[in-house]
Formats: sequence, structure tokens, C-alpha cells
Amino acid sequence: MLFDFHTHTFLSDGVLLPIELIRRAVAGGYNAIGVTDHASYSTMGYVIDAVVADCKLAEKYWDIRAIPGVEITHVPPEVIPAMAKEARWRGAQLIVCHGETPVEPVPPGTVLAALQCSDIDVLAHPGPITVELASLAASRGIFLELSARRGHSLANGSVAAAARQAGALCLVNSDTHEPGDLLTEDFARGVAAGAGLSPEEMEAVLVTNPQRLLEKIAAGRS
Ligand SMILES: [Zn+2]
Ligand SMILES: [Zn+2]
Repeated sequence: MLFDFHTHTFLSDGVLLPIELIRRAVAGGYNAIGVTDHASYSTMGYVIDAVVADCKLAEKYWDIRAIPGVEITHVPPEVIPAMAKEARWRGAQLIVCHGETPVEPVPPGTVLAALQCSDIDVLAHPGPITVELASLAASRGIFLELSARRGHSLANGSVAAAARQAGALCLVNSDTHEPGDLLTEDFARGVAAGAGLSPEEMEAVLVTNPQRLLEKIAAGRS
């Protein structure tokens, strides 16, 4: 089983067309892929329209769940709730917020704003996170990301430890920008193991939690 809720295409700073990214995910044995290009008010309209079209096409012909989404990225934290609502209204079925990764100057307060917003589904690479913040994620059902991406992954240990104490749910995502970034089952397992998870926790993070998110997305579709 292989799931990934955070990937990019050339609609933002990835290199592939959405349908090619999804094709490569099918070929790599993915069960589900979220296509979540960076967006703000400037690009949200065309990014979501384009990704919705290719996800529909992929699901019609291929055996994969292809979920159109966005990653709200580097915006003032104050506007995150309104922007997430607008993304959903425009057809995004998966709202990721770009968290306070240790390797980028993300506005401070982004993680708190995202975790106070019920329209956010996944907080990507939160950076070092407190148990109090992870508790907000647990109470709102927001998934915390363990990142497979270099740099962003530096804080995975902190995220896993805080999530364990708070009872928050984690996922492993690739944050793919190029074809070689896509996950394999072995690599996803290695990311989870590297974050210090037990075998039972790894099963939850790699299989059970992704299935829960898929159920939440399916409920939002109808
Ligand atoms: Zn990017
Ligand atoms: Zn990303």
C-alpha cells in the first residue's frame, strides 16, 4: 500500500504535467496521490482548475485515487482560513498548508494558524513542534506530515514525538518536485523508521492514517 498527499507539478515548481505525475505514480504502485501545487490568491484559480481536470482523467482510465489539492504556501498566517475556504470552493479536495520547515523563511505563526483552521487537511513539514500544537492537530483531525524531502525532514523526529504525546495522526509524504522524488514502500518505511516510530506506529502512519484521510476526502466529495 502506498499513499502520498503532497506533490508538485509544473503548475508551481515541479517539473511534470499533472497527468504525467499521476501516470508515474500508477507505474510506481501508488494507491492514491494528492496533487498539491503551491498556491495563493495569485494562482489558485488556474492551478485548481488544471489539477481537477487531470485527476478526473486519471481516475476515469486508471486504477488510482487522484486527489486535486493545493499547498497554501508562504502567505501571511492571518489569511490562511479565508484562503483555505476559497481553495475548497474552487474545487480543491485536499488542502495542505506549508508549515514552518527549518530550511525556509516561512512566516512565524503559520503552524498555529493552520492548526486552528478546520479547512486544513494536512500540515506539511511543520518544523520542530510542541505537544500543545500537536494537540490542536489531534482535536481538529489535521494530519501532521513526516516529510521524505531533504531539509524538511530534519524536524521529523520532533513531529513524531509531539504527535505521539498528543495523540495526533501523522503521514509520510514525498513533497515530490521531480519524478525521482516519488515514494516507494521501502523508502516511506525508512522515513517512518528514521522518525523513531515503533512497528505499530509505522503501520498506522503508512496505511491506517492515509486510509482515514481518504475516507475524509471521500465524505467531502459527496
Ligand atoms: Zn516546492
Ligand atoms: Zn510542498
